[in-house]
Amino acid sequence: MNTSELWQAVLGELELSLSKANFTTWFKNTFISEVSDHSVTIGVPNLFTLTWLEKKHAKDIVKSIQEHTNGNVKTVCFRVETRQAPVQMVPVGGKQEAPPSYVAPIVQEQPSASPKDFFSEQPQQTQVQTGEFSLNGKYCFETFIVGKQNELAHAAAQAVSNQPGGIYNPLYIYGGVGLGKTHLLQAIGNELLRKDPNLRILYITCERFTNDYIHALKTGKINDFKGRYRTVDVLLVDDIQFLGGKESTQEEFFHTFNQLFQNNKQLVISSDRPPKAIPSLEPRLSSRFEQGMLADVGSPDFETRIAILEAKSREKAYHMEREILHHIASVVQTNVRELEGALNKVIAFHQFKNIHPTLDSVKPILTSFQPSSLRKNVSPKQLIQTVSVYFDVRIEDLLGKSRQKRLAFPRQIIMYLMREEMKSSYPSIGNELGGRDHTTAMHAYEKISGCLCEDEKLQHDLELIKQRMYTA
Ligand code: ADP
Ligand code: MG
Repeated sequence: MNTSELWQAVLGELELSLSKANFTTWFKNTFISEVSDHSVTIGVPNLFTLTWLEKKHAKDIVKSIQEHTNGNVKTVCFRVETRQAPVQMVPVGGKQEAPPSYVAPIVQEQPSASPKDFFSEQPQQTQVQTGEFSLNGKYCFETFIVGKQNELAHAAAQAVSNQPGGIYNPLYIYGGVGLGKTHLLQAIGNELLRKDPNLRILYITCERFTNDYIHALKTGKINDFKGRYRTVDVLLVDDIQFLGGKESTQEEFFHTFNQLFQNNKQLVISSDRPPKAIPSLEPRLSSRFEQGMLADVGSPDFETRIAILEAKSREKAYHMEREILHHIASVVQTNVRELEGALNKVIAFHQFKNIHPTLDSVKPILTSFQPSSLRKNVSPKQLIQTVSVYFDVRIEDLLGKSRQKRLAFPRQIIMYLMREEMKSSYPSIGNELGGRDHTTAMHAYEKISGCLCEDEKLQHDLELIKQRMYTA
């Protein structure tokens, strides 16, 4: 293995345990500059990087190099180097041997500049993680409107972002769909990253955690998996209710949780219900969750809905008269996602037609958002009928046994809508659908509500189905 291959191997390993932004920031333009008997010198682009690598990553680098060189290398040094001119050299790690004569004193002072100064060509990338575990920059505290129903969760989230790993650990935020749980989780991540771009922050949905775990088991990469999850500074887990019933994933999550918790790393968890109410969740997990801070989010009241609408239309630089915002806020009452959806729909419609919104032009657009009390009474049979037409499948097949995907999906949508729109009980939903078990209905409801936030096509499908159902 030549020096460049060795460094690639080391980087490959380090990359697994760091966020992409973090990794790029600190390991860009590094290389192995010199190898002597027991020592490897790493060239780094500036003093700031040198200090940082020495402080935060030297141990891991030494360990990884040792693994790849059968333990021959005992010392790793860093040197600021532009490939031609060596400036500084600092021995770290392993046993400190008598240093060569050109070694400069160890640099001890704190880095005085922010990473931005050194990587000005891509300043934002040091703050926002990219890729699968990404934080979305638009979910920040500045864009979160606080009302009575979410002020506790908001305050706790802010406390966590001021003092991660402090008294609110874990923070467990729960409440219905579209009430800002994901927004708060991500705001914590974004805020922490803004304060310290080097924090390892991992935002993940519970489903993703589960899939990752299963994948790691299948491919024999469980150590990589553990490395990835157990070495972060902050773990944000969204929609933890999906852990219910998944025993081995729960086991793994339990250990991840403990390891992080013991090391005073912050955990923030969201769920659609309190810990004890998650079906088939091990008591040792729910009691861990309950030991921290529990905060719920509820449906926004009228004033908060108005404030949200005002903020969102300002964001979009679209002006609407107050009475129109009032109308939207009085029609859409349950959750913020729907409220946003209604606003977007109104804006899109009027922009498309190139007319200014009036009460008369807005009212018909919002029929599908009418509160259930004002809606036409729809029976389960009519719902099944609507969905069968929408997906072009036969009702007998929907009620039958086949689990083909083209049937299973519409069936889950029916179960979701029966629960969400008609507030039917799970057993009665099971009955309506050809005598299925109530757990099937529960699963379907959870599955669809879980996908809803990310899946725009699904949101659209549901919207159209509701429209047909209520206006037919
Ligand atoms: P949840 O995770 O609880 O289902 P989200 O966090 O995904 O809900 O919120 C749904 C949408 O509503 C997002 O676009 C989010 O930004 C917005 N939202 C929710 N609560 C608020 C709030 N209090 N202020 C501003 N926007 C909010
Ligand atoms: Mg969410």
